[in-house]
Amino acid sequence: MTNDLTIPIAKYEISFIDDPYLRPSFVIYCCGCPHRCKNCQNKELQDATSPLCTQVQTEDICNYIKTIDRGLIDCVVYLGGDFGLYKQQYYLISKTAKECGFQNILYTGYKFENLDYKFKKYTDIIIDGKYKEDQRQNIFPASKNQRVWQKISDNWVIINPIDLPINKEQAKQGGANEI
Ligand code: SF4
Repeated sequence: MTNDLTIPIAKYEISFIDDPYLRPSFVIYCCGCPHRCKNCQNKELQDATSPLCTQVQTEDICNYIKTIDRGLIDCVVYLGGDFGLYKQQYYLISKTAKECGFQNILYTGYKFENLDYKFKKYTDIIIDGKYKEDQRQNIFPASKNQRVWQKISDNWVIINPIDLPINKEQAKQGGANEI
């Protein structure tokens, strides 16, 4: 049941740079994040009650995802803000996305080890950990403490960032991402 289960949403967009494998993605930005990292890239979305955000029914997001052309989009990416605050909403949205054939990619300031199974069941990639300015690096992820977890044959493994296509692209541009 998704009735009356809402989540504060800032925006949706199509992206080619938020999946570590650079696949075309439908990105959902939620609002609300307790981590308050110094120099957060999306500081304006840390407050769940920000005027930039609208309470959206989880069911409406699920229904929208069902309309996305699987031939054009490969992944749903969850950014913010931190979807780690919205366990049941994330579970239902990621389940719908998986049933539609999309990969789910979650960015969260929480550590992988502390995430409930509902964040992992339908998820393919998790980029975890807070952004730490004193551990900033010029490759993806933006700070050294963050890890890229990928589910391979039902096992979660940590991917060496050097192997990610996003880093080959970033090397050309000399930039870095933040969650
Ligand atoms: S976890 Fe991400 S969204 Fe939250 S404060 Fe840190 S950088 Fe910003």
